[in-house]
Amino acid sequence: MLPITKNAVYDQNQIFYKTEYQKILTHFSSYQKAKNDILKSPSGTIYIKIILLVIAIIILIFFGEFISDNLKYALLLGLGLVNIITGLFDNHQIQKLEKIDLLKLNYETLLVCPKCRSKLINQSYTYWKEKQSCNNHKCDVNFYP
Ligand SMILES: [Zn+2]
Repeated sequence: MLPITKNAVYDQNQIFYKTEYQKILTHFSSYQKAKNDILKSPSGTIYIKIILLVIAIIILIFFGEFISDNLKYALLLGLGLVNIITGLFDNHQIQKLEKIDLLKLNYETLLVCPKCRSKLINQSYTYWKEKQSCNNHKCDVNFYP
C-alpha cells in the first residue's frame, strides 16, 4: 500500500489536487474490489443445501413411485428443517461484517480528501470517481481542474 505523499499535507493555497486524487482513486478501486469480493462470497452451507436438494430431487424423480407419500412428505419437511437449522447456526454474515471492518481499518487513512483529510470511505468508488469536490463544505478542493 502506498503512503499518502507529502504533497497531500494541508496547504491553504492549493486548490487543485488531481494527481493526489488519482492515486487515492486507485486505492479506492482496490478497496471497492476487495469489499465486493467479501460481500459476494457465498456461505459454505449453501453447498450442503444444494447437494441435499439435488439428492431429494433425484430420489423423487427416479424412486418416487417406490416410496410412500408419507415418506415423501417427511423428505420435503426434512429439507425445510435442514434449511432452517443451517440458517440458525450460519454466522457467515457476521464474518463478512468483521472482514469488511478490517478492510476499512486498512484503507480509512488512505481514502481521505487530499486537502482537508476528511474521510471518503463512506461513499462508493463510483461516487468519488464522478465527484469534483470534497463533501466538507469548508474545503475548496477541486479534484478535476
Ligand atoms: Zn476536503
